[in-house]
Amino acid sequence: MAKNEGINCSFCGRPKNEVGILIAGVTGHICENCIEQAHQIVDEQIKFDEPGELTTDFNLLKPAQIKEQLDEYIIGQDEAKKVLSVAVYNHYKRLSIANKGEEMEIDKSNVILVGRTGTGKTLLAKTIAKTLNVPFCIADATVLTEAGYVGEDVESILSRLLQAADFNVEAAEKGIVFIDEIDKIARKSDNPSITRDVSGEGVQQAMLKLLEGTEVNVPPQGGRKHPEQKMIKVNTKNILFIAGGAFDGVEKIIGRRVNRNMIGFASKDAEKPDEENLLEYIIPTDIKEFGLIPELIGRMPVLTYLHPLDEKALRRILTEPKNALVKQYVHLFELDGVKLQLDAEVLDFIVSKALEYKLGARGLRSICEAILNDAMFDIPSQKDVKTFRVDLSYAESKFAGSKMAKLKIA
Ligand code: ADP
Repeated sequence: MAKNEGINCSFCGRPKNEVGILIAGVTGHICENCIEQAHQIVDEQIKFDEPGELTTDFNLLKPAQIKEQLDEYIIGQDEAKKVLSVAVYNHYKRLSIANKGEEMEIDKSNVILVGRTGTGKTLLAKTIAKTLNVPFCIADATVLTEAGYVGEDVESILSRLLQAADFNVEAAEKGIVFIDEIDKIARKSDNPSITRDVSGEGVQQAMLKLLEGTEVNVPPQGGRKHPEQKMIKVNTKNILFIAGGAFDGVEKIIGRRVNRNMIGFASKDAEKPDEENLLEYIIPTDIKEFGLIPELIGRMPVLTYLHPLDEKALRRILTEPKNALVKQYVHLFELDGVKLQLDAEVLDFIVSKALEYKLGARGLRSICEAILNDAMFDIPSQKDVKTFRVDLSYAESKFAGSKMAKLKIA
């Protein structure tokens, strides 16, 4: 009789001849399937129970260091970068003194970023989170509704953050939430023609408790299931909320206010605010007039703005940031052993199309795709191609034949 015959796995009971490997312990045996399963259970449990690397490990950088990091990824927007760096620094400093048990409580510095779409609001918030190594999520204010209405409850914002933190509650509680399109939940009652106010003031009210810092029961929603727990308690005290919005039309409000304040001054032209850059003068009352309720503004005390992107900025965005689009394409071609060269006129052409289509920085990518897609299709199968140069006439002809160009004609 063979030595191991008649031996079973002590966990699943399967005999030796039905399993591959059977490892002997002091009093029993375990088969490879059971080892695999046990390993998975241990892994899951560790992720749930133990603070992950994000928990206490965020990098508390000085404001100037934070700005330096932002400069690597975001072109321009100096004012917003500075204001945000200070707000973030103070937020996490506040958190570290709270841990030391200091009595002085520093208020939260949640932020509102005002600026046209595609000017870098989301990118700023995302880059801050990456720099500090804290969990980050983006929530769209327009899908939120008051409890009881069809749509997402405000608590769903935190489900996303939990998912981003891999359900490490402690890490999520120090994370950053970017609330996009906050301007779309402005109070609309001043305008009777808009009947749908479901996502207006009610949502702002519902958001207050999240922003001020409280324990919230969060549905894990679609994330990893946890057997005993339907809801996960998350304390929002140390979560930093950054809200962004275009606030279309707020310039008019600012303009009216600024002009009002200037009446009576024999102001020289040089002192007059630049009509194009009225956002620079934004103050909380403008946002209030736009339709955010004072309580919400009070809980997001840091307010700053982003400039519209001009030709020069778009051109820099194409090539300068650490992961600039052009650098990405060059790298993609490099992976196929091909050196990609884009003539300077091609970059100017891409920028001019982005401006023409009024797509801001968001449009740069689709235009690059339109120009390079055929090459990215053909070149990987062409073994002898070592360099690929794109000149203006190639770029123009590819763009003219693209879906984007046809859309414009239609
Ligand atoms: P917003 O949130 O203001 O609508 P995003 O931050 O989502 O805009 O920007 C859209 C895209 O445009 C980003 O992915 C980024 O590549 C690019 N972008 C926008 N503004 C800048 C900027 N100032 N510097 C570098 N890239 C930018």
